[in-house]
Amino acid sequence: MALRFYNTLTQQVEDFAPMRDNTVRMYTCGPTVYNYIHIGNLRTFTFQDVLRRWLQYRGYKLDHVMNITDVEDKIIRNANAQGQSIYDYTAQYTQAFLDDTATLRLQRPERLAKATDNIDVMVQNIQELEKGGYTYQSEGSTYYRIANFPEYGKLSHNDFKGIKAGARVDVDEYEKADARDFALWKAAKEGEVAWDTPIGRGRPGWHIECSSMARKYLGDTLDIHAGGVDLIFPHHENEIAQAEAITHKPFARFWIHSEHLLIEWEKMSKSAGNFYTLRDLLEKGYEPEAIRYLLVSVPYRRKLNFTFDGLNGARSAVQRLRDFKLRLDTGKFAEGVDEQIRVAAERARTRFEESLDDDLNTAEALGSIFEFVREANIAMDNGEFRAGNVAPANDLLARFDSIVDVLRPSEKQGGLSDAEIEAKIAERTAAKKARDFKRADHVRAELLEAGVILEDTRDGVRWKRK
Ligand code: AMP
Ligand code: ZN
Repeated sequence: MALRFYNTLTQQVEDFAPMRDNTVRMYTCGPTVYNYIHIGNLRTFTFQDVLRRWLQYRGYKLDHVMNITDVEDKIIRNANAQGQSIYDYTAQYTQAFLDDTATLRLQRPERLAKATDNIDVMVQNIQELEKGGYTYQSEGSTYYRIANFPEYGKLSHNDFKGIKAGARVDVDEYEKADARDFALWKAAKEGEVAWDTPIGRGRPGWHIECSSMARKYLGDTLDIHAGGVDLIFPHHENEIAQAEAITHKPFARFWIHSEHLLIEWEKMSKSAGNFYTLRDLLEKGYEPEAIRYLLVSVPYRRKLNFTFDGLNGARSAVQRLRDFKLRLDTGKFAEGVDEQIRVAAERARTRFEESLDDDLNTAEALGSIFEFVREANIAMDNGEFRAGNVAPANDLLARFDSIVDVLRPSEKQGGLSDAEIEAKIAERTAAKKARDFKRADHVRAELLEAGVILEDTRDGVRWKRK
């Protein structure tokens, strides 16, 4: 079966292929850089990373643009409160975002676009909307008149025909029940950052930011537009209204929305204060790979309720996979091929690929790998696993890890130097000589924990970093 995704626009699972050449043109809504992001945001970005990686696995190239929202109400308020320019204020959180996403091994989009670098394109888009008769002005601000876009509501599947024409809203986020004309351009206010432009002195609304930058970098029609489910309305609905009123072409072929991360079954959010940042979890001693594994393990269209039990489970799952990899790398197996394991590896690969093709069913995909690991471990215990089974098992793990990316431990800061490793090995050899096997095993485990694998050979102890 072909690669397929659920499309919010059509409410169906549809076969996916890019429209032109082999390249997927994708736009995802990036962070508002007014604070550290939390692991709820990171669930969405990690999903997008899995999406990217799976598209690449299937042979596609990517042209992925992500915006950085660096001018917005909260940013202006916080920067002013701290007596900083929005540029200085947002620079630190933009860097923190890049650091956090790198720690979680998220691939960088091909392009990161800052809103403040693209004010001119937004102004042009607003002018085009003006020409088409989709806007009106009030007190120096420009609004989008949704009554003039009859398809308004087609993404969120709402009928907005009965709404009061001309009712306006100045905030960027609001509920469906309040569908209103929204601000494209906000008139300058005392003490707020503003740009002098042909449409007046002011700053852009959030929605025009995304549709304008998507068009600028990727053209009129995107293959994929993605974001968290909270963005379906009003943000993405408004993006469609802005883009399609200008181009009269579909703005995005696939709209892919990921569900929220919850905590105690409530949406994790900055404003509710019920959040953990990545830094919080790292400080508690969790590895980035355990966090990444947890976020990946639940299919993106299901809610994920965050608990420490869940995170501990993810940590053990990663450890099991690493232990298996170590066993493959250092075990001594008799020559030949065990037929049952050969077939099991093939079956696992097929199931892994079919699951991810099926709207990125990561839970099924992980299940297929664990089933293989269990079978292979039993075969190793029984002495049935053969040297000829090693390469296909490693190939399977490599395929898995090209998407999930958790086998390699992150380099810990202050990791062991070569000299320190040699000293530990000498300590272990001495302990063995003294028949203190408990001590020797302890040193071996310590080294393993630090990512160092020992191998006892006839010529002495060899070691490598995992
Ligand atoms: P923001 O910086 O608030 O604009 O959010 C950045 C991204 O994180 C958006 O795609 C949101 O949909 C997403 N997001 C926010 N809260 C959560 C959550 N609790 N779970 C998953 N994604 C979220
Ligand atoms: Zn956006």
